[in-house]
Amino acid sequence: MRSLRFIAAGALVSHPQLALQSLDGMAHNLYPLLFKASYLLERVEVVRAVLGRWPAEEFPLGALLGPSGDHPEDLRDRACRACLEACVRGLADHALQGGRHRRLRVADLTGIQDVQVQRCPCGRALGKWGRTRLLAKTCCALQAEPLGAGRPVQVLADLFVTEGNFEVVAQALRPAGRAPLRVQCPSLRADSLSPRQLLQLLRLAGPGSLRSLAVVHNVRLHAGHVRDLLRVGLPQLASLTLPTKAFDTPPAWAPNPDAEDALLTSIAGELGQMSRLTELGVAFSRLTGKVPKLLGPLRTPLRALDLANCALNHADMAFLADCVHAAHLEVLDLSGHHLADLYPATFFRLLGRAAQTLRVLTLEDCGFTDSHVSMLVLGLSPCHQLRELKFLGNPLSARALRRLFVALCELPELRCVEFPVPRDCYPEGAPYPQDELAMSKFDQQKYDEIAQELRAVLLRADRGDIQVSTPLFGSFDPDIQETSSELGGFLLQAFKTALENFSRALKQAE
Ligand SMILES: [Zn+2]
Repeated sequence: MRSLRFIAAGALVSHPQLALQSLDGMAHNLYPLLFKASYLLERVEVVRAVLGRWPAEEFPLGALLGPSGDHPEDLRDRACRACLEACVRGLADHALQGGRHRRLRVADLTGIQDVQVQRCPCGRALGKWGRTRLLAKTCCALQAEPLGAGRPVQVLADLFVTEGNFEVVAQALRPAGRAPLRVQCPSLRADSLSPRQLLQLLRLAGPGSLRSLAVVHNVRLHAGHVRDLLRVGLPQLASLTLPTKAFDTPPAWAPNPDAEDALLTSIAGELGQMSRLTELGVAFSRLTGKVPKLLGPLRTPLRALDLANCALNHADMAFLADCVHAAHLEVLDLSGHHLADLYPATFFRLLGRAAQTLRVLTLEDCGFTDSHVSMLVLGLSPCHQLRELKFLGNPLSARALRRLFVALCELPELRCVEFPVPRDCYPEGAPYPQDELAMSKFDQQKYDEIAQELRAVLLRADRGDIQVSTPLFGSFDPDIQETSSELGGFLLQAFKTALENFSRALKQAE
């Protein structure tokens, strides 16, 4: 329930002129309330003015928008464009002024969640990439202004950098002189950058304090780049995601198993230096037989591990099942491996050891058929912490799914299940794994009927709290959504370059 104080703050900010006139005479402890009320009601002139006059040394955006005694609602999933722009403008106003208003030392702009549907009145989001660009542009504009008295304001922000905002971010992170706003970056996501740009960005972003680094999609790294990247020194890093094929041998190298081995040892050694690393994502890298060498030297048990489509072999699975990480895993992705056919004993041993901690399990395209369902039920039944289970792309019939769903009802924490289109909905003998075209050609009416039956299984067990879906082309990803046009352009350019190279090679051959 909203407190009387919050209701009064809402009434005041609904009259922006009055609110702006009253701000200077307002008790400092009311500013957080005024900020949340003006953000909720999208009174952007008040948002800006409150931040411009912020009376405390810290401005923690996430905490201010989170639930509080005065207003229990959580506004952190409102990446409202108008309000966030007002925040950054207010921050710039604050940084430019001297005198008694200049109290702020640290503005922490992290903690915003990007979601598919904006609940705010304007309904327009400013995603992580857009927030990064806006902040960087503001910092650069302020660098041209004469710096008032006092120290610069440190701004903590999760950055998302691509070719499209690289230059302005680099300039913001590397001010030529004194700058009123200094960006610090606890988490960095990089896409559509060259390895050289990535390395430059990492050095500018302050690798010493970086806690999360995600290098994704259109950053073409090979194992040599990964080693150079880690050698920059990332002592605080807790989460590392590397792009597809990041463990490939550098193309200039002649095939040399000893040299490749030395490179992997060197990468593993760097990872072993990180005393806080608990999340590692290396999906779509060919790691056959390399997992023991890669994960063996880690000093801390991993909580999240993504090894999807890594072409793991029996030795890799055996290592995983027996390693120290197994008993700490909360998030595990082993998609793209035929677990029940190739290494059933080791996979189920791994599942058994992770059962006490596992919250999110992804097993897409793992070749699970009806004959594996008993085994799956047995393996999943001790996973009492499991919250999300994703197993799209497995050739399971409606009958097998019904059996599995009956067992899933017994998992008390389960809230989200992504299940495959039942095999019965595809033409007889359709092959697996499926490509996107084959996957999309199914009997929709039959699917709807079966999905309805599966939901009924849950409802009969009083488990309406479990959300089930079949997101055939992946779940919503706000970061990809925001940069899809740049990503598409980058891919087209890469395709064009490849065609030009091919045609040049053809001409030379003639
Ligand atoms: Zn809005």
